[in-house]
Amino acid sequence: MSCILCDCEIDQENDSVEHVIPQAIGGLLKVKSLLCKGCNGWTGQEWDSTLCDQLNWFSLMFQVVRDRGAVPSMPISTLSGEELLLLNDGSMTMRRPIFEKQPLEDSKTRIHIVARDKLEAKRMLTGASRKYRIDVDETLRNASTSTHYLQSPVMVNLPFGGPRTGRSIVKTALVYAAMQGVDATLCGQARRYLLQGDRHPDAATATPPFTRLDTITGGGDGDVPPFDYYYTKDPLTERPSVVLHSVCISSRGSEGQLLAYVEYFGCHRCLVLLADDYAGPEVHAGYLIDPRTGDALQADFKLGIGKAEVRSLFQREYDEIEGRTAAYNSVMEVAIAGSFDRERERLVEQAWQALGKSGIKEGELLTEVHIAQLSRELAERLTPFLLAHGHLASRAGSEIQSGASPPSAGVPGHTPD
Ligand SMILES: [Zn+2]
Repeated sequence: MSCILCDCEIDQENDSVEHVIPQAIGGLLKVKSLLCKGCNGWTGQEWDSTLCDQLNWFSLMFQVVRDRGAVPSMPISTLSGEELLLLNDGSMTMRRPIFEKQPLEDSKTRIHIVARDKLEAKRMLTGASRKYRIDVDETLRNASTSTHYLQSPVMVNLPFGGPRTGRSIVKTALVYAAMQGVDATLCGQARRYLLQGDRHPDAATATPPFTRLDTITGGGDGDVPPFDYYYTKDPLTERPSVVLHSVCISSRGSEGQLLAYVEYFGCHRCLVLLADDYAGPEVHAGYLIDPRTGDALQADFKLGIGKAEVRSLFQREYDEIEGRTAAYNSVMEVAIAGSFDRERERLVEQAWQALGKSGIKEGELLTEVHIAQLSRELAERLTPFLLAHGHLASRAGSEIQSGASPPSAGVPGHTPD
């Protein structure tokens, strides 16, 4: 067995487990004995991590299931300039805590602290108590938490593309093909692209031969990237979910080409030319997953795209904006609905907790008094939320921030790496 990238012999020493779809965005399918440890390591750091950074907003909003580690939080801003942090439960909080001092008469000082959670509030108070006379515990007991819903839309930049992201996509297609028994050395277009330039982390500053996804000028003849965005047709005959990751490969009906289709979060869709003249046995296989649950999905797909059409696609002879916008809009709708539901559930939970504090035990029958109280607790919490619906929501206070809102960005553009 040799490494499908560097051709070195894979033995027990240098074998590695590769995620077919990067684990940071919720890829759970793994394969052994295809990449050597070295190639697995640096392609992960260089290519996959760039792709995953670009997709971080989606990973946060959909709370992807990952093999390890939580999705890192991400700084975002509102149109009016408020700086926030998007957390891994899809909610938002202040980017930084607030600490203000105001001198009063009699050489006293008023201190105003807004922290993002109780622990942070305690830390800040303890720090201040070294200089000022503060009863930390007493002050914490009297601290209040507050929720506010944003009045200004959130701006999110959602770039997708560049030479490293491109190579991550092509590598995913190649790894999946090899997993299905395809001889990687027959995937000339993919391998040549992956092995040229930008190959080693030390070479990261060197100009890679393909500087950005949208400089494609040819049809995958070795000196042009063998892939591009693909929105002309939907290869999935019936979508099992709006939000999904997929990698599909097929040599059927494509005039001797071996093609792959890679899709992330239901809206980033790419066609990859693995081989222009594929000399191996027919192959047709797909893997789909819902990154929100980690569940594998079933769907038929059809690539069957001829050589001339692939060339036209890579030369951007089709207008893909309409298909791309439609794909993004449907995914955004699910993201926004999800954050709305999470916030509503949080408020309902809070209302029940408030009722619990007034003495009612779990399993007890609710009296009319309880029901009236629950109605009050619900109305108190849900009214501001529902009134603010349509704006982004955030909670500033001393507990976990909650709520979310739609990004004002529409369709992300092609961005250089
Ligand atoms: Zn290798």
